[in-house]
Amino acid sequence: MQVARITVPPTAGLPLRLGDLLPWGDANFDDALAAWLQVPEVQLECSGTSALMVALRTLHKLAPARREVIMPAYTCPLVAMAISQCGLQARLCDLSPDALDMDESMLRGLCSEHTLAIVPTHLGGRVADVRVALHFARLVGAYVIEDAAQALGARVNGQSVGMQGDVGLFSLAVGKGLTTYEGGVLVAREAGMRSSLRAMHGRTVGFSFGWELLRSAELLGYAAVYRPATLDWAYGASLRRSLAEDDWIAAAGDDFDAFIPRHTLGTWRRRVAVRALKRLSPHLQEAQTRAQGRMMRLAQIPGIEVVRDPAPEAQGTWPVILLRMPDRASRDVLMRAHWASNLGLSLPFVNIVSDYVRYAPLLGSGVLDSVMVARDWAQRLVAVSNSEWLTDAQFDRLCAHIAETVARAP
Ligand SMILES: *Cc1c(COP(=O)(O)O)cnc(C)c1O
Repeated sequence: MQVARITVPPTAGLPLRLGDLLPWGDANFDDALAAWLQVPEVQLECSGTSALMVALRTLHKLAPARREVIMPAYTCPLVAMAISQCGLQARLCDLSPDALDMDESMLRGLCSEHTLAIVPTHLGGRVADVRVALHFARLVGAYVIEDAAQALGARVNGQSVGMQGDVGLFSLAVGKGLTTYEGGVLVAREAGMRSSLRAMHGRTVGFSFGWELLRSAELLGYAAVYRPATLDWAYGASLRRSLAEDDWIAAAGDDFDAFIPRHTLGTWRRRVAVRALKRLSPHLQEAQTRAQGRMMRLAQIPGIEVVRDPAPEAQGTWPVILLRMPDRASRDVLMRAHWASNLGLSLPFVNIVSDYVRYAPLLGSGVLDSVMVARDWAQRLVAVSNSEWLTDAQFDRLCAHIAETVARAP
């Protein structure tokens, strides 16, 4: 394995500045974010997972006889954890062979009078087709929760993602864009749903001094080390350690804690977010311009497929550029050789949810859902960081390595 100092983070998160960390200032992040998203209101939670749990509990209260939640088989395992911890039953839907969307015919087959919600997911900033989920959900009287954890700022027909379904959620975790170290956001199209979500928050979420202190310290630490000079110490060292042990789950950051804290998002972290939010639009604009140029280069490599937004009216975000390699073998060869080479390579998630030993038990009978295409996606996807710190020279080397790996594949 090559030893390179890591200076490039795996995603193009918005870097914080010292000035963001001042103890005073405007703490009304709710209104600032709602205005930025152009939505009537947002509800802040302590993480995307916690936000999902508030959403699931709210919907379950509205439809207590329904217990099944249909999620894509390839997504963040925290989604399965949230469903299980709400006492609900996950059903895994396969993916389409052409896009990261759920397979239409399987989705139709999974929907029934037991379905509480369908969770279309805007993975890696790519905009999912929510209309199909909405159509099938309406046929059986179920809800749609848009998981936009990785897509803050993505829009469809000029409107924020999260507003086509009944509830939408964003994550403010490290690496997902704008960050409060951990944080989550709920949006909803209808006023009635917004008041139900707020009521559930009031009943189940409270202030925790201990968690707020910890998260504030973590946010300070993150602001201090999320820069090229110190990233190797913060991220590179543990990445190399995980890879040396051949632990891809840890290397990809898929080793989530089973305890999901639930508390409010404190005032100081809201102040930090208000200041950082002012830079989010230009940050996303630059990321899109950079991604467009680099996608053109990547698309020229024979055998490589760049994952794009299928619908023309969709305008996604670009924390990463997702590539589909020709087969699992070439993907694994590429990752083994260059995951730690400081070229911005990583995996969105190592496995489909049912293939993790530690998450499969959360699925109950959902583990039996047949999801072959999603597994194929999981085995062939790679993420290329769209961080501004990945230089053109590094990107050139990355393209050369990818082309060489594909050309050498048997
Ligand atoms: C990260 C993520 C979540 C959970 O968000 P957290 O803020 O990390 O709890 C949910 N869904 C997807 C697709 C994610 O990537």
